[in-house]
Amino acid sequence: MSENLHRLVYYSRNKMEGSPDFVVQEVRGILDISRINNGKVGVTGALLFNSGCFAQVLEGSQEAVEATFERIQRDERHGDVSLLSFGAVAERSFTNWSMAFVGASASDAERFGGIAGESGFDPSRLTGDRVNAMLYDLTLEEEEVF
Ligand code: FAD
Repeated sequence: MSENLHRLVYYSRNKMEGSPDFVVQEVRGILDISRINNGKVGVTGALLFNSGCFAQVLEGSQEAVEATFERIQRDERHGDVSLLSFGAVAERSFTNWSMAFVGASASDAERFGGIAGESGFDPSRLTGDRVNAMLYDLTLEEEEVF
């Protein structure tokens, strides 16, 4: 763990209003800036957007992950940001992705909806490990190349 590797998982609610095209455009913009910024500081991870919610995994050095998450929390395009887990890990789940994106398909909606539904849409009842595993599986299956 030479780089003090940490993983952070959170869940938030979309606050963007407007047409589906507008929202997709904004999400593209978020991914573009994320891939640039994260690449510069060695942060990798995955972003899920579905059912009006975001879930994101950020992994990298503790300092880089904290700084990235502080910026993300201030972003008014989403809200009710709930930290699910943050701690040291032995290895990355998303080595090859500065920010993978999943979540646009109907099957993802079903899977994510199922997990959120089981928790009664209460983010505090979702575990970081569960969200990380789900995003990992979805990313292997079908990363959307936006
Ligand atoms: P600037 O671009 O200087 O913007 C200043 C402020 O305005 C910031 O608070 C910013 O959040 C906000 N802002 C910027 N654009 C818009 C807009 N179109 N509408 C409303 N507010 C806006 N960034 C990363 O670097 N890595 C990530 O992994 C990452 N993941 C994200 C996940 C989600 C769900 C969201 C919503 C955003 C994510 N971002 C991520 C974007 C992040 O929130 C910042 O916008 C970005 O990092 C630029 O930060 P900045 O301080 O340079 O802001």
